[in-house]
Amino acid sequence: MREAPNSTLLLGAIPMEIYKEFTFEAAHRLPNVPTGHKCARLHGHSFYVRIYVSDSLDPHTGWVMDFSELKQHFQPIYEQLDHHYLNDIPGLENPTSEILCRWIWQQLKPSLPILSQIEVKETCTSGCIYRGID
Ligand SMILES: [Zn+2]
Repeated sequence: MREAPNSTLLLGAIPMEIYKEFTFEAAHRLPNVPTGHKCARLHGHSFYVRIYVSDSLDPHTGWVMDFSELKQHFQPIYEQLDHHYLNDIPGLENPTSEILCRWIWQQLKPSLPILSQIEVKETCTSGCIYRGID
């Protein structure tokens, strides 16, 4: 079945997901790893964060959300994280990618109810995805 072209009524009913990527630099150590584990030592990462929001397309603007608005939502979180020692931040005493992912979710979700997914990568090959608890 083909969609009717330029139908604003149909456009508003289309669910879509968009994302914006951010990077920040931070130090951490993992206090609960086995003795001798390399992650127990103080070290840093160039963290990569992808914030996803999901909603219907606005029939007028044609977008789910303004990307710059998404950036504004993340800005206070970025300022807490960038060039900081993550273990000093309340809630991040054990800053694994998983706990960081959930912590960012908890910071964003109250003011961004269409938040749908957060991805955190601490290396090029290691990361975590969190979609909240239904
Ligand atoms: Zn690490």
